Amino acid sequence: MPGGHSQTLRPFLWRAEKLYPDTEVVSRTHEGRTRHTYAEYADRTARLANALDEHGIERGDRVATFCWNHTRHFETYFGVPNTGAQLHTINPLLPDEHIQYIVDDAEDEIVFVDPSLAPKLAAAAEGAEEFADVDFVAMGSAEIDELDAVPYEEFIAGHSTDYDWPDLDGDQPAGLCYTSGTTGKPKGVEYTQSMLWSHTMASQTPQGIPMEDSDVIMPVVPMFHVNAWGMPFTATAAGAKHVYPGPSPDPADLAALIEEEGVTISAGVPTVWLGLREYIEGGNDVDLSTLDTVIVGGAAAPQALIEWYDERDVEVLHAWGMTELSPIGTVSHLKSDLRDADYDTQVNKRSKQGLVAPGLEFEVIDEDGEEVPWNGEDFGELRIRGPWVTKEYFKRPEANEEEFVDGWLKTGDVVTVDEDGYMQLVDRTKDVIKSGGEWISSVELENAIMAYDGVSEATVVGVPHERWQERPVAFVVAADGVDREALVDDIEAGLREEYPKWWVPDAVEFIDEVPKTATGKFSKKDLRERYADQSLVEGSVPEEDAPEQE
Ligand code: AMP
Repeated sequence: MPGGHSQTLRPFLWRAEKLYPDTEVVSRTHEGRTRHTYAEYADRTARLANALDEHGIERGDRVATFCWNHTRHFETYFGVPNTGAQLHTINPLLPDEHIQYIVDDAEDEIVFVDPSLAPKLAAAAEGAEEFADVDFVAMGSAEIDELDAVPYEEFIAGHSTDYDWPDLDGDQPAGLCYTSGTTGKPKGVEYTQSMLWSHTMASQTPQGIPMEDSDVIMPVVPMFHVNAWGMPFTATAAGAKHVYPGPSPDPADLAALIEEEGVTISAGVPTVWLGLREYIEGGNDVDLSTLDTVIVGGAAAPQALIEWYDERDVEVLHAWGMTELSPIGTVSHLKSDLRDADYDTQVNKRSKQGLVAPGLEFEVIDEDGEEVPWNGEDFGELRIRGPWVTKEYFKRPEANEEEFVDGWLKTGDVVTVDEDGYMQLVDRTKDVIKSGGEWISSVELENAIMAYDGVSEATVVGVPHERWQERPVAFVVAADGVDREALVDDIEAGLREEYPKWWVPDAVEFIDEVPKTATGKFSKKDLRERYADQSLVEGSVPEEDAPEQE
């Protein structure tokens, strides 16, 4: 619907500029912290839009970023889509051939690149015909010779701070993000204006990740990964202060930003919050008194992590999402009738992936194609649909056929839903361990192992076994100075008490680091491959405890 009646991003920035002209957008950079007000931010965004016009960018063209989280990157968040162009955020951690593939697939016209990431992009671009027609803009005041990149400050300099923002249709593509593609080529997911609008509005409900104008938000989740979970948009809709942690922040950087900027809401994968916990436990005194909420997602939030932050009066809000969902699907708020429940019950609920966000629908389908009951036990693959769930993959008709059914997105996540409606992810369809025809949740074992003192991280994979087809093996990253033998004994004894004996991993191996994908998720592929040629010996599960054969 034309004439400013459509669901688009434009009103969010308009409102923030009008109502909160003095509220700040802060960014950590290599040169120290930068500060802008919403009024200045809006001016710079308009200058960027004028510069893009002059560069010849037209409605529907794709403009890419190759950047960490900072204010200039945030300027592209409104400056690009509000003109009618499409913002493609590239994950700089991807291998070169994936970067070449997606720049070509997206037909990017310009790439905005951070100086610290320029060597990586230059290596991917060198001699690659995919980059033949791409122009580069360096995110800063200096040129980047190796890419022939004009400095951003020069690119926007001299342009007007007025821009006649067009009336866009809700269907206008506004964003583009590729899934990490651990197998096969990355798949593009387009975000239309109305998908981003509805995701923002749902995030702003009390059942989402709500923010107020008094909040100070700090997305640690990268802005190249599903728009930093939409936080920059949600925070603008609320008129909140933004704090961007800049290039490769470590726990000390995050601690300084939390203390000095008064961060109230932050968000990131569990590793980030485990890192901050270790930093504090290591003897660093950090004042967390302003921090109300950390949103944890992308991978399961271990219950021990939730409890540790609870003790410091910081609420861990566990959320589940996907690139295909812009990304929020469920958030683990406590339902009001659980507020009087005992602490263990509450933490148990909060450590599940949570309640479906208002506006979405889901169903859980078992191996026989039947919908499973909400009893917290029966499991199946989660299918989901709604206004901010993509309906197709970008230019990939064959993937559309595989991953969508009757308008539902097949998530590839295996879940249970309990009587209260809390969804719990028990595995990825491809990571489920099948032992003697019975099913073992690798995710549940991982969470149980990560709750042991002395375990920094753990992952469990199914490895081939002559007799049982597959058996679980645990890979553990031990904290410094831990007695490893005693730790293994502890874990094995504990798991034997808690789970059927055939769930207990046949081996616990120590590793220095859990291999991660470009989006920070555990990459089980490498570990599975490492173990593939040492198929486990027959009989590791005592006969009487073995599951029945199929
Ligand atoms: P991506 O599209 O890269 O964001 O990955 C989406 C996938 O990450 C989901 O399908 C889940 O398998 C996983 N994931 C996201 N959030 C969580 C969570 N809170 N707990 C467990 N896994 C998660």
